[in-house]
Amino acid sequence: MIYKKNKLTIDHLDIGNIAKKFKTPIYCYSLKTIEANIKNIKSHFKSINPLICYAVKANSNLGILKEIKKNNLGADVVSVGELMKALKAGISPKKIVFSGVGKTYEEIEYAINRNILLINTESKSEILQIEKIAKKKKKIVNIGIRLNPNTDAKTLSQISTGKKENKFGVAQKTFLKLVNMAKKSEILNLKCLSVHIGSQILSHKPYQKMLSVVSKVIKLSNYKFEYVDLGGGMGIDYNHDHSKLDLKKYSIEIKKFLKANKCKIIFEPGRSIVGNSSILITKIIYIKEGFKKDFVILDAAMNDLMRPALYGAKHKIIPLNKIKKISKKSYEFVGPVCESTDTFSTIKRYQKLNEKDYLAICDVGAYGMSLASNYNLRPKPLEILIKNSKVQILNKRQKISDLI
Ligand SMILES: *Cc1c(COP(=O)(O)O)cnc(C)c1O
Repeated sequence: MIYKKNKLTIDHLDIGNIAKKFKTPIYCYSLKTIEANIKNIKSHFKSINPLICYAVKANSNLGILKEIKKNNLGADVVSVGELMKALKAGISPKKIVFSGVGKTYEEIEYAINRNILLINTESKSEILQIEKIAKKKKKIVNIGIRLNPNTDAKTLSQISTGKKENKFGVAQKTFLKLVNMAKKSEILNLKCLSVHIGSQILSHKPYQKMLSVVSKVIKLSNYKFEYVDLGGGMGIDYNHDHSKLDLKKYSIEIKKFLKANKCKIIFEPGRSIVGNSSILITKIIYIKEGFKKDFVILDAAMNDLMRPALYGAKHKIIPLNKIKKISKKSYEFVGPVCESTDTFSTIKRYQKLNEKDYLAICDVGAYGMSLASNYNLRPKPLEILIKNSKVQILNKRQKISDLI
């Protein structure tokens, strides 16, 4: 994504032309960026040789999943719907792990039928449920147990998952009991210890702490885990100030861990694969004068991109056409939805904007479209992929008539 003669382009295509042709709002993905992200992760962890299972919940568009499959990634799924879609994209069941605290009977049954790599369990009840279904099907089932390492990921509290007050995983004491329980099972094959401490993690230190807890627990359990699944969470540079996770430092910590614990590492990255691969192209409907600032009312809203309303997350907003003139008043960028949380950000000294101007909300590839809803009965946006400097339609814009 670069400006050429003050016009925003992706892969040589003028985004302004795309906006005019297809109408807004549009999720516009760049295949080049997705592939660069995959390559970057693979190269940093090359000597570790991990199994990389893309977290489908970050973006479950079928076209995107197919591209990810072509790059030989597996999948981490959290519902039967995601599992079906990963399989439909051609991802091998041998590279699929199933996570989540509340897998239903039907979901477990489906996963067992499809012989996926691992079901990562999160409670005693769930292990008993899986055992019951496995017995009924007379099938050996590979499971993992998710440890809650009580590690602060130092990220937004709403996307923290590895502290003891969070619902995810089981505490060390329970973990050790469950290992003993699973060991005795004739039909369950305990293969994995899994952890996932949160999302948008910007420092390697929480991972370092998490790894030391995992090491300790493995020792205490006196059990040989074939896999250690470290989850996802690798943070990306939303502020465009180079504040992303240092993968090199993280990989050094993992190498130290592997010296003491021989196992195969699994990663479940979501955001770091697709997060910076998409912009949400939007048009200004109105500009409305407020007391101290002007409201820039966009045709994209919280139903299209919920992260700001849900977590207070910030996304850069950039113009498709750059000009020099600066606005005297601050701008607050908002959507048309009838909620006060339908606001993206307030920016001082932005370039002077006019009604009908186009803007791009940046880094919306992860937890953007996958969290979109029809709130206020608004149709979900068009999704396109820029691939070899051509536009591929990934998903048509919903029609209002489909919603009525
Ligand atoms: C959401 C989730 C991920 C992906 O997290 P990212 O921050 O997008 O990398 C991985 N594993 C589990 C279990 C998750 O719930």
